[in-house]
Amino acid sequence: MQWTVRLEARTSAGEVETTELATFSRPGVAGTLAEIGLVLSETKALLAKLQASMLCGQVAAYAAHHRVCAVCGVLQPLKDRRTRRLQTLFGTVEVEAPRFKLCRCRLTTPLAEATVSPVCALLTARCTPELEQVQAELGARTSFRDGVRILEALLPVSPANHESLRARTHAVALRLEAADRQAAAEVTAVQREPDKAKAADERRPVVMLDGAYIRAVPGHQVRNFEAICGKVEREGHSTRRFALVRSVAEQPHALLRAALQGQGWREGEAVTAISDGDPALPALVRSATGGPVQPILDWFHLSMRVQHVEQVMGGLCALEPPPLAPLDPAPLDPARTDVERLRHLLWSGDHEKACEALGRITGWAKDAAMLDDPAVEARAKRLVARCTELRGYIESNEGALVDYGERSRAGKPISTSRAEGTVNQLVSARMNKRRQMRWSPRGAHRVLQVRAAVLDGRFGQHAILLAA
Ligand SMILES: [Zn+2]
Repeated sequence: MQWTVRLEARTSAGEVETTELATFSRPGVAGTLAEIGLVLSETKALLAKLQASMLCGQVAAYAAHHRVCAVCGVLQPLKDRRTRRLQTLFGTVEVEAPRFKLCRCRLTTPLAEATVSPVCALLTARCTPELEQVQAELGARTSFRDGVRILEALLPVSPANHESLRARTHAVALRLEAADRQAAAEVTAVQREPDKAKAADERRPVVMLDGAYIRAVPGHQVRNFEAICGKVEREGHSTRRFALVRSVAEQPHALLRAALQGQGWREGEAVTAISDGDPALPALVRSATGGPVQPILDWFHLSMRVQHVEQVMGGLCALEPPPLAPLDPAPLDPARTDVERLRHLLWSGDHEKACEALGRITGWAKDAAMLDDPAVEARAKRLVARCTELRGYIESNEGALVDYGERSRAGKPISTSRAEGTVNQLVSARMNKRRQMRWSPRGAHRVLQVRAAVLDGRFGQHAILLAA
């Protein structure tokens, strides 16, 4: 059997031109499964021909249209014929780009000469916006080399190497970042309406921030550098991710501000920021909003430090010999009770009582360390260290401790665990150590811009419009 594919092009004037694109042959009766239907190589060749045919036709029509003088309607004389190459998802197409002598009616002096090249005005880039977008999305999702392999395996795409895929990803990132700066500059101020303000406060945006370390390429002053990742969540809006490498972001706070704006936030509205104990993170939110920020210490990080105290206490209890006389009160009991209360006190925002309890446990453990028992002494010293650590952590984050129980019962977030998920999605999956990847801060920052947009699903149309 044989199939022929013909392309019928119909101009706006109604003229029809038919071009034969491809012929596929198969045995009259198929012998194997592999002989049924189209195969990839045929399809790629067909698509490439279809693209070339369509594109050349469009460009020729465009050149013909612009050959006519827009002022007097006379055909401008041909100066020379040149060609231009355009890279597309369906192959590189060489198109004719004729140059015309500018119509006499538009010349300022009768003897002057000027040339117009309408096709050059149409082909503003070396590749189509769609090719750039698909390359950037692949560059953000997978390694640049794999991105090239995937594209070339499936499409008759213009040949590219990993460096050009990286360059395209970077170019798109720069535009996304510029768009964010623009959005950040256009944030409107909130109108003060008391009854609405309360409702808005109930639905205030929550920013969850976390840091991640990325291995630096050799030659950098540092072995690792930090990327700040996070999420902005607000009831009624789809979550928005953001990520940045602070040292190379042009305006780090603008990226967060744009993410907030994407959630309907307006200047003057309060924002909640949940993060671990790093004071730089709430500070970034403050510089992005320029207004009130309620910082909350991530419950998970706090709870982990409580667990350290509980574990060392558990170890001490295991060492305790059975009481010799029934009247002898177990010497550990008061300390054990205090340790058991710690978690609950912190959960309900009672950090002053928690600090008092820690003081008592520390005092007791110091006494226990004086006993003539090396095993007890070692663990008691460890307990003192863990308690001091937790107390220091509580004190340095005092303003960010809340009634976690109440927040949790109200269904509000208390942990950055969701931000940590974002770190995994944004950084680990593309840049982690197992892949042996090393990054320059700038390269990582740019890939993160595209990756956040891709994962949010705000990349598609947006990027095409930006490229246009
Ligand atoms: Zn003219």
